[in-house]
Amino acid sequence: MYYIFRIRHFYGGARPPRAIEDSQGSPIIYDDLDGIIQVVDELGSAPYILLHGEASRPQYLVVPVQYGDRIVDGRPMDDYDWDDFVCPNGGRGNPCGECSACLAEMAEQDIHYLREHEVYHS
Ligand SMILES: [Zn+2]
Repeated sequence: MYYIFRIRHFYGGARPPRAIEDSQGSPIIYDDLDGIIQVVDELGSAPYILLHGEASRPQYLVVPVQYGDRIVDGRPMDDYDWDDFVCPNGGRGNPCGECSACLAEMAEQDIHYLREHEVYHS
């Protein structure tokens, strides 16, 4: 079972990756890997209009549920590595968790984690 995560690339910082959701707002869990690959290839090649401030079209990552749940469920602050991070409010290794720098850092670490566990991408 797999999620498809959408990774958006904006100028000025990463945004949190989101699993593709159904019309009720629940992340879709896919069973059939061949079917997913077809979906991702279509998403990755369909005509796309960039959003304001968006640097390039989204990328789609296929990630097994056992890894993707960590992102879908929301990671607690202490699940991230803050050792070398400097928050404008809290200083080195002491994130406030609310400023744009902290939010971008969490998004980048989430994206890095998903890339480590992806089985396919657009
Ligand atoms: Zn902060």
